[in-house]
Amino acid sequence: MPLAQQFPEITQRNQPLAPFTHLKIGGPAEYLVQPRSVEELNAVLAACKRDGVRVRMLGGGYNLLVPDDPIGGAVVRLVAPAFTFLKRDGKRVTAGGGGQLFDLIAFAVRNGLGGLETLVGIRGTVGGSVRCNVGDKTGEIGQTVRAVTVLTDAGAVQTRTRDELTFGDHRTDIDEPVILSVEFELEAESPGTVLKRMRKAWVQRKATEPLSFQAGVRLFRNPPGQTAATLIDRSQMTKAKVGAAELSERNSNYAVAHPGTTARDIVQLADLVRAKVKERTGVALDRELHVW
Ligand SMILES: Cc1cc2nc3c(=O)[nH]c(=O)nc-3n(C[C@H](O)[C@H](O)[C@H](O)COP(=O)(O)OP(=O)(O)OC[C@H]3O[C@@H](n4cnc5c(N)ncnc54)[C@H](O)[C@@H]3O)c2cc1C
Repeated sequence: MPLAQQFPEITQRNQPLAPFTHLKIGGPAEYLVQPRSVEELNAVLAACKRDGVRVRMLGGGYNLLVPDDPIGGAVVRLVAPAFTFLKRDGKRVTAGGGGQLFDLIAFAVRNGLGGLETLVGIRGTVGGSVRCNVGDKTGEIGQTVRAVTVLTDAGAVQTRTRDELTFGDHRTDIDEPVILSVEFELEAESPGTVLKRMRKAWVQRKATEPLSFQAGVRLFRNPPGQTAATLIDRSQMTKAKVGAAELSERNSNYAVAHPGTTARDIVQLADLVRAKVKERTGVALDRELHVW
C-alpha cells in the first residue's frame, strides 16, 4: 500500500521541497513525511524498508542541495515536539534532533552553560549540525557531544556514547538513518560571560558570510592548514558564475543563489571551481555540501 495511504495524516504527496531549503531550490518529493512521535517514525521507516522506498532526512536544508527533478521515495522532516525538545540536567543538555541549533545555543547561554556559544550564527537543526559536525577554527559541535541517540536501520533506538563516535572535518561516522537526539556536556559559567562570547562570535561569523539578504551555501571543506576560499581566490575564480549561481564576493567558498538559480547551476559551479583550483594550485577540494 502506498505510504500516503498508510500514513495519511503525516504524509504529503508530490510536495515541493524548495520552501524547506535555505536556497529555496528543489523539486517535489514523492512523499514528504512529518511524523509526530518516535513510534510513528519507526513505523514509517519499517514500511519504507518493507516496500523498498528510499528514505532521506531533511533538516534545515543549510548544507544540502536538493535536485530540480522530482525526488523519488520519502523525505522525512522532524518538526513535531517529540523531536524538538530541550532538557537540562546539571551541565548536560539533551536536544531533539529536529530542533534548531540556535534554540539550543540560546537555551545553553540562558542556563549559563558554555561550549556551544561560538557556533552562534550557524544555521540548521541539531541532527543535521551534528551529522555535519559544524564548527570553525574556534571549535566544533562534536567537542561538546556526550551521546547521540539514533534510530537504526533495523528500527532500534540506540545511544552511541562519545567513545563510540568519531567526529572529523565537517563529518561524523554516524551512519544510522536518523539522529533522534543529542546529549551535550557543557561547562557551568556565568550567563553574562557566555553571552559576551556569543556576541563576539556572532559579529565575527557574520563578517565572513554572504550578505544577510542572500541565500548562499558553503561548497568545500577547508584543506588542512588552508582555506578553500583563499585557494579559490588564488585560482582567479573570485565571483565565478554559472547560470544564476555566483560565488559570494564576501567569501569565495559560498555559492549564492540569485533568483532563478537551479540545483544544476550550483553543481556545475562547484565542479568548475574544483577543476580550476586543482589545475591552478594542485589541491583537490572536497565538497562539504551534501547533494541528493
Ligand atoms: C550561510 C551559511 C553559513 C554556514 N556557516 C557554517 C559554519 O561556519 N560552519 C559549519 O560547519 N557549517 C556552516 N554552514 C553549514 C550548515 O549550517 C550546517 O551544515 C547545518 O548545521 C546543517 O544542518 P541542517 O539541519 O540544515 O542539515 P541539512 O542541510 O538539512 O542536512 C545535512 C545532512 O544531514 C542529514 N540530516 C539532517 N537531519 C538529520 C537527522 N535528524 N538525522 C540524520 N541525518 C540528518 C541530511 O540528510 C543531510 O545529509 C553554513 C551554512 C550556511 C547556509
